[in-house]
Formats: sequence, C-alpha cells, structure tokens
Amino acid sequence: MRETVAMQAIRVTVWGENVHEQKHELVRTIYPTGMHRCIADGLSESDEFLTRTATLQEPEHGLSEQMLADTDVLTWWGHAAHGQVEDAVVERVQKRVWEGMGLIVLHSGHYSKIFKRLMGTACSLRWREAGEKERLWVCNPGHPIAQGIGDCFELPNTEMYGEPFAIPTPDEQVFISWFQGGEVFRSGCTWKRGNGKIFYFRPGHESYPIFHHPMVKLVLKNACRWARPEGSQWIDRCPNIPIGEAPEPLAKQGPSIHQPGEEGLR
Ligand code: ZN
Repeated sequence: MRETVAMQAIRVTVWGENVHEQKHELVRTIYPTGMHRCIADGLSESDEFLTRTATLQEPEHGLSEQMLADTDVLTWWGHAAHGQVEDAVVERVQKRVWEGMGLIVLHSGHYSKIFKRLMGTACSLRWREAGEKERLWVCNPGHPIAQGIGDCFELPNTEMYGEPFAIPTPDEQVFISWFQGGEVFRSGCTWKRGNGKIFYFRPGHESYPIFHHPMVKLVLKNACRWARPEGSQWIDRCPNIPIGEAPEPLAKQGPSIHQPGEEGLR
C-alpha cells in the first residue's frame, strides 16, 4: 500500500523568498533552516508528498522550465523582495498554472507579482503588527481544505490582516478570520485560472512560529492535495478550422474581411 502511495506522490515545490531568515536573528531563531524548509518538513510528515524547496537566491529563483514541469503544486511565501522576482519567471509560473499546476499563496504573498497577475486586482489589505490572537473559522466545512479542522482554530500571536482585501470574489471561501482587535478577513480563498487551482492562505507572518502550528500544517497538506493537477489543457493556441474541415459539411455565406489563408489571424 505504501508503495502505491509513493508512486503517486504529489510533487510540491516550496518557494521561499529567504530574506528575513538571512537578515533577522528573531526569524532565524524560529526558522533556523528557513521558512521554506519548515513548510516542506510539515508536508513531508505525510508520504503523499514529494517536496523540494526553491529560493529567490538560486539561478532562475530555483524555478526553471524543468523544475516547474516536474511540479504539481507550488507554494509561495514572499514579503520583502517581491520586486526582485524576475518577470520571466513570473510569466513561466503563470503559464504552468494555466496548464494545471496548483498554486498555494501564503500570507504576504498577497502582494507577489504572480498573485497580483493571476488575480488582476491590487490585492491590498489592512494590517497591524500587535501579536494579537487570530481565530480562523471554517465557513465551508465540506471543502477538502477544511477537513480535520473542526469549527475553528486559533493562533495565539499573529499579524492582523483586515478587510477590504482587494481580490476578485473567490470561487470558494474556506476560512474567515477574526482578530482580537476586531477586524475580520477572508483568510482562505480559492480560484481557478485556466486549468490550475489557486489557494490563498493568510497566516504566515515571519516573526511568529506559524508554520510550526499543527493546524496550519494540516491546512497546507489538505491544500496541496486539493490543488494537484487534474489533467491539463493547451494554452495559447487559437487554431483556425478551414471550412472544408468543419465537423459537418458547411458552405461559406455572408461577407468576410479575411483573405484566403488569413483565417488563422486573430
Ligand atoms: Zn507579515
């Protein structure tokens, strides 16, 4: 049985900006091997996942064509260096999402180039760093990402994110957060872009041990399982079907400004 599971492992690439861990002793204390390593270790508690990590500092940010081709689900944590992510890599990740790769965007990744591009909106929000309590309510108990969570769970110390969160209306809402200071936030949202599933998950501020929390680890396992590709679709193709090759016999009628041989131009 274990061999069967291993053969079908979900290949997850955990991408980390890896800047705070280098600059701030506090963050290094919580995440001695980096947030990305902690997230990958959490997933590796289950043999369903085959994890690797990639960081901003690697050539092509560790996200070459081949690496992305071998990735079923990509998780993204960034904050201080969104602008340093090369546009060509962002383009490449977007293309893979359209093809069917899952994407899990974490916390301050709401302002990443890839998330803003896929959402098409500002993705702005309110925030406060006061170490306050966050209560994450499950508002979609039948959703695969909410399995095993119960009604809600609490994180004792978090950075607050508050509405309005400038995102397109999510396809599905999985979590809504309440904060000790009174604000609320759509903290677990899903979308589809092309054939790819996207999940935004709010927790993950670098100065608290969020990615060590068992419920956060469970949500990320559920999310990676949910976001794995289900088939693929071709993208960036717009084939012309000549009249003579229509599935049913067809005679041309009405005017056209296209010249013969130009039908493929759109
Ligand atoms: Zn933060």
